Amino acid sequence: MMEYEVQRRNRKTIGLSIERDGALIVKAPFFVSRTEIEAVVKRKEDWIYRKREEIILNKEKYPTITYIDGQRVFYLGKPYEIVGNGDKDTIFLSKDKIVLPAKHVDRQWALKEWYILQANIELGRRVAHFEIVTGLKAVSIKITNARRQWGSCSADKNIHFSWRLVMCPPDIIDYVVLHEMIHLIYLNHSKDFYREMERYMPDYRQRKRWLVENRYIIGMID
Ligand SMILES: [Zn+2]
Repeated sequence: MMEYEVQRRNRKTIGLSIERDGALIVKAPFFVSRTEIEAVVKRKEDWIYRKREEIILNKEKYPTITYIDGQRVFYLGKPYEIVGNGDKDTIFLSKDKIVLPAKHVDRQWALKEWYILQANIELGRRVAHFEIVTGLKAVSIKITNARRQWGSCSADKNIHFSWRLVMCPPDIIDYVVLHEMIHLIYLNHSKDFYREMERYMPDYRQRKRWLVENRYIIGMID
């Protein structure tokens, strides 16, 4: 029998989710019996196994990082190895390595600051490009620390991007940038929204799929 944790919630239906460690969480309304929950879990068994497998596969591809020398991280979709013997004050790229200053004790902090800086430069550039292409303009663009969403667009036309986006390949960054900018006209994911996406990016479906398949990348760095 499958093990799981039941969380009682003020909701109408039973919802299943798999945590990053593979644990199954069942969110259930207060009135639903244990037997009913058991039946739902049983019925969803295939889905649960498939999801778990996906998580394990992704974990192998993108393990949570430890910041020691040789650790693999991603920048613009390419793998880089962290090394901590830099003689400069700042982080720099050298071939397939991200070189951290030797004197830095807090590597996690240093690397994150570097990513945020790159995100500001890279996203600023891509937004400017798509402003010209689409003629659309956000009221403001902000880089956030979001770990669950690559980007968002509010009704008052403020766009946010997670700095974690710079770990993704450039064509994927472009997909997210264009996606949020199209939300300046359509705040939903309607047919009109996707028609507009397709107009500027005919292969947007492939890029969207990449994001789904590589979702784990967003949680690589705390
Ligand atoms: Zn959206």
